[in-house]
Amino acid sequence: LTQLFRPLDMLGWVYRTIRQGIIDMAAMFDLIDQRVEVADKPGAPALVVRQPSVVFDNVEFGYEPERTILHGLSFEVPAGSHIAIVGPSGAGKSTIARLLFRFYDPQSGRILIDGQDIADVTQLSLRQHIGIVPQDSVLFNDTIGYNIAYGREGAEHDDILAAAKAAAILPFIKRLPDGFDTEVGERGLKLSGGEKQRVAIARTLVKDPPILLLDEATSALDSRTEQDILRTLHRVSEHRTTLAIAHRLSTIADADRILVLEHGRLAESGTHLELLRRRRLYADMWARQQSEGGDGDEAEEAAE
Ligand code: ADP
Ligand code: MG
Repeated sequence: LTQLFRPLDMLGWVYRTIRQGIIDMAAMFDLIDQRVEVADKPGAPALVVRQPSVVFDNVEFGYEPERTILHGLSFEVPAGSHIAIVGPSGAGKSTIARLLFRFYDPQSGRILIDGQDIADVTQLSLRQHIGIVPQDSVLFNDTIGYNIAYGREGAEHDDILAAAKAAAILPFIKRLPDGFDTEVGERGLKLSGGEKQRVAIARTLVKDPPILLLDEATSALDSRTEQDILRTLHRVSEHRTTLAIAHRLSTIADADRILVLEHGRLAESGTHLELLRRRRLYADMWARQQSEGGDGDEAEEAAE
């Protein structure tokens, strides 16, 4: 019986998730593989955010019981600060993002936003406070305007215009004969990777979340587009608590603090200069990426 109902449950979950305005999670998390892992506690209150700090307190997590991915991870992101999470592929970086969105609950430890355990508040209120830009944003087969407005129910035309402007996609949209009514996707305009990311950024700006999560947001772009988008992201993250997961270290060197994750453990942390002086993992990664001939190569490979 359980077997029979699971697919229906899952469809309901996917539907609710999408309705909650986090369509970009689809790209990050392969929605189809997701199970209903977490539920709101009965009578759970909404998350109330005054100072958007984020704390991981001794978080232990594995997708399967026999394989721990995060081993008692602790770190703190003060409200308004910018931290970067770097480390080899498979270290558990995106897992941190999934836990912060509460797609899973830790086996032990706590995750706090502004002092509230995210397991104690409603998932809807939690997700309303976090904006995400993944590597490959997902657009609906609908108009550009619809795709931007999707960030928040009841977004007005002025909000959409302002968001498009801040995401530096407004001039592009204005040049289109149908402007915001231009269809994207199969039936309409084919957007480049950079344009798609800008639409996703505009959507996030309409949502106006106090916490911003960037999971390799520019790593699929060629290096010039990456530089352009990074400048935009820099601006939009200015007054927001920001967690930037990055592969290319040059994109996060100015973070207030860099966490180096290795095998689900915090190997080291500090500013770019502190970590270079320590001459350990980060310094090695930095040297390796510098000698690979700048930032461009991997981007161009990824974009192929
Ligand atoms: P990163 O983002 O640092 O590259 P992830 O957080 O995506 O790494 O993954 C960390 C580890 O967890 C990897 O070994 C990955 O294979 C595993 N993993 C990721 N998602 C799942 C899942 N849904 N089920 C089981 N294992 C997973
Ligand atoms: Mg990842």
